Amino acid sequence: MKKIFAMLLMAAFFLFAGCSESTSKHSEDGEKLTVTVTTGQIADGVKNIGGNKVKVQSLMGPGTDPHLYKATQGDIKKLQEADIIFYNGLHLEGKMLDIFEKMNDKIPTYAIAENIDEKDLLKNAADKKAVDPHVWFDISLWKQALETVKDGLIKADPENKSFYEKNADAYFKKLDELHAFAKEEMAKIPAEQRVLVTAHDAFGYFGAAYNMEVMGLQGLSTDAEYGLSDVQKLVNTLVERNIKAVFVESSISERSINAVIQGAKKKGHTVKIGGELYSDAMGEEGTDEGTYIGMYRHNIKTIVDALK
Ligand SMILES: [Zn+2]
Repeated sequence: MKKIFAMLLMAAFFLFAGCSESTSKHSEDGEKLTVTVTTGQIADGVKNIGGNKVKVQSLMGPGTDPHLYKATQGDIKKLQEADIIFYNGLHLEGKMLDIFEKMNDKIPTYAIAENIDEKDLLKNAADKKAVDPHVWFDISLWKQALETVKDGLIKADPENKSFYEKNADAYFKKLDELHAFAKEEMAKIPAEQRVLVTAHDAFGYFGAAYNMEVMGLQGLSTDAEYGLSDVQKLVNTLVERNIKAVFVESSISERSINAVIQGAKKKGHTVKIGGELYSDAMGEEGTDEGTYIGMYRHNIKTIVDALK
């Protein structure tokens, strides 16, 4: 409830701010570029590359499900006042596509995941047209997506080209270290436990990167319905393969995954909740998990502790 109130307050503030200074975008923050993004992981990438040259505002906070998210009036304002807009694309923000198309006429608007090499993208097994949008879970793909962020910032602010390049290089080095850490940790999970069961299919790229089978109750989008037969199928797999833990996601209700645990219990198989993973949203701002690297490390630790 508090969050909603804060959002309303913020929306009111931006409406106000918009009335008084609709002509000048930079008046408040000197030379800073105003960058509006959809998700927390994109915001973190922009902050790392843009440093003190950018003012980043993210539409979706911790715990927000991007598949179902609809823009508020305050969001529209934030998009309109931006110098640049970055969003994920590949239908992650499924309810906002029209808005981005409209914005792109006036403001440089980039779908950062859509610039990734097509051969690297995962397609849905059942529906080949659906591409998996959760690219941030493969660190090498996320670096490709952030190249688009870097290029977009340079295009908008060419004077600071070397600044953005230097920041990106330093950040990419940290991401390489993160990948090395993840690889080493994930190797601790025994072969028969290398199955990651979650509420929806957010971890396809993660599984491909670290040799882990992934199973979600819902498909690539939380927009898809799931039924009793989906629950039953997943329960059978848990029992047959003696999988000991499943995971909840911070942006999705625990109800669906609890149905799976209850189903397994009825068949005499105990499954525990291995912990909470950040899938489509990150942790609270100001905490470790509120950054991409911290969020990733949290997931690795949670998965390895539960399954090793
Ligand atoms: Zn998702």
